[in-house]
This record gives sequence, C-alpha cells and structure tokens, in this order.
Amino acid sequence: MKAARFYQVGQPLRLEEVPTPQPGPGEVLIRVRACGICGSDIHIVYEGVTPTAFQPIILGHEFSGEVAACGPKVATWRAGDRVAVNCLVSCGRCRHCRAGREQICQERRLLGIHLDGGLAEYAVVPAENLVALPGSIPFDQGAILTDAVATPYHALTRRGRLAQGETVAVIGCGGLGLHAVQLAKVLGAGLVVGLDLSDQALERARARGADRVIRNDQADPAAVLREAAGGEGVDLSVECIGRPETIALAAAGLRTGGRAVIVGLGAAPIACLPPTEFVRREIELRGSYAFTTREIAEVVALVAGGRLNLADSVSRRVPLEGVNEGLQALHEKIGDPIRIVVTLED
Ligand SMILES: [Zn+2]
Ligand SMILES: [Zn+2]
Repeated sequence: MKAARFYQVGQPLRLEEVPTPQPGPGEVLIRVRACGICGSDIHIVYEGVTPTAFQPIILGHEFSGEVAACGPKVATWRAGDRVAVNCLVSCGRCRHCRAGREQICQERRLLGIHLDGGLAEYAVVPAENLVALPGSIPFDQGAILTDAVATPYHALTRRGRLAQGETVAVIGCGGLGLHAVQLAKVLGAGLVVGLDLSDQALERARARGADRVIRNDQADPAAVLREAAGGEGVDLSVECIGRPETIALAAAGLRTGGRAVIVGLGAAPIACLPPTEFVRREIELRGSYAFTTREIAEVVALVAGGRLNLADSVSRRVPLEGVNEGLQALHEKIGDPIRIVVTLED
C-alpha cells in the first residue's frame, strides 16, 4: 500500500510502498478514505516539539474510512462499514479507563504519533476505537470531526459543563476555536464571544454563530470581554491557544464562580489571577485533553441530525501524493486554512 511516512524533523514526508498491515485479535483493517492534517502534525514535522515513538512512522491521527477486514474476535463490524476512528488507543484497565476517562489513560498511545496512523491507503485500529459513520456524512467531515470537533466538544461538555443559556468566551478562533464557537451555540449557550488577533478569524467566528467578536490585542481585552457579557464576565471561557497571556485572559474574563477550560498546548507556565481573587471568586481553571469514543459518537449524532453543519470546515482537499503541500499550506497558513484533508478516492 501507499503510505506517507515521517523520517526526520524538517524533512517532507516520504510517499512509499509498504506492506499492508494485518489486523490482529480485536483489530480492524480500515481502508482510509480521508485523513485531516492537524496542528499536531505541524509540531511533529516542522517544529520537532512532539516526538513520535519511532521513525519512519505513518502520520495521520484524524481519519475515516471503510472496514476492509476484521481480525479474530471482532463481532461488531463488517467489511464495508463506514467508520470514523478515535486515534487514542487506551489500555481499558487503568483507573482512568475504568472511570470512563480513557483520554487520560496512563498507557495511552495515539495513532499517527505512537503507532502507524491514517496517512496511508490502509490502517489497523482497535475495533473499540471505531464509530459508525452514517452515509449522510462525507468521509472528509467524518475525519475532522474525530479531533478538530471532538476536542472542543469534550472541552465544552465534560470539562466546561456548559449549561443552557450560559455565556461563553472562546479565545483563539482557529480550527479548534471555530468549532468551539459553533458547538457552544448548538449546545444551547446564550451569548458567545469569539476572541482572536486576526480579523479574518473573527469574521469566520461570527459566521459560525459568535454574537460578539473581540480583538484580543487591544488594551485590556478582559475588560472588553466582561463588558460584552453584561459587565460581570462570562460563565465559561475556552482557551484554544496555550499561551500564558491568553490563559490569563480566559481567567480574567470570568464572572465570579466561572470556569476557564484550557485546550491549547504550550510550554510556558500558567500565570493568571492573584490568589486573593482566584480564591475569593471561586474561579475554576481546568485542563481539557482530547475526547472519548463515546464523545465522537455524540458529535456524529449532532452532524447526522442536522444540528451541526461541518460543510464549511474542510477548506481544502489534497490527494495522498499532495500531503506535503497540504502540510506546508497549514504551516504557512496559505489560503487561510480551516482544515486541510487528504482524501483517497476509489
Ligand atoms: Zn490533532
Ligand atoms: Zn488506561
């Protein structure tokens, strides 16, 4: 089969012919039909900040396709089933897995980072990592919903505990943040405010349902945010950048008793409110990582039910042969990408 393999930081992926993997017990062979290119792939290929478990490795952790074959002891899937893949492979035994929080499994491994991924004609995945994809959802949307949409969904629902009518601020309106804005509205938020440095990103946030947009490079953006939410601040803020100053903004924009959920990854330590305020106002600051298979299924249901429209989320499609062009376009933001998806046709 053809596969796009990563050898070394700073080098393009190599499109190579490799043996088609065989599914073992409990595993399924997927014929990949679409695989999104994610910011994490940029971290791997260009920045070297996310080391892969081995090289050469097939990248790609956001994918969908059809079941091609099932290994022994797989009763739930049949050849031809359309599926979306949860890239996070968990152990099923540790305390977090047993508590239904497989995303923080102590032994978790990610397809496309620790195991061969989806930038290939075929991929082997555990059967329990599959979610049925109805025929009404195109494969490219089925791919991106597993990460770019499921990540903010987990942040808003499980970690943010968003309730009907609550006010929400989304800081950073790129791929994750844009879907956070859209999902917040779909999930019943009241006022939704989008914050970003780019007017283009803010325009898109408005198109996805943001009631207010604020440039966060102005003087005291937290005051502008609190003002936008009636002077008190928002109930919930979701930070999608991972920088100390935007995390501080996420905390400072909250009402008393509000929750800030941090989705963005970064290396610099968090510094936000002084404890005199943080404590007296019972501010919550929570990390939010990835998603569960069940949450991916919930996102699929939102799309299938017509409540969540992802038709505009795939801004470009490239064939497997064009994967390096796609990576470069995302890295250099050529064409203002939302999500670039590698598609493999019949
Ligand atoms: Zn990703
Ligand atoms: Zn586990």
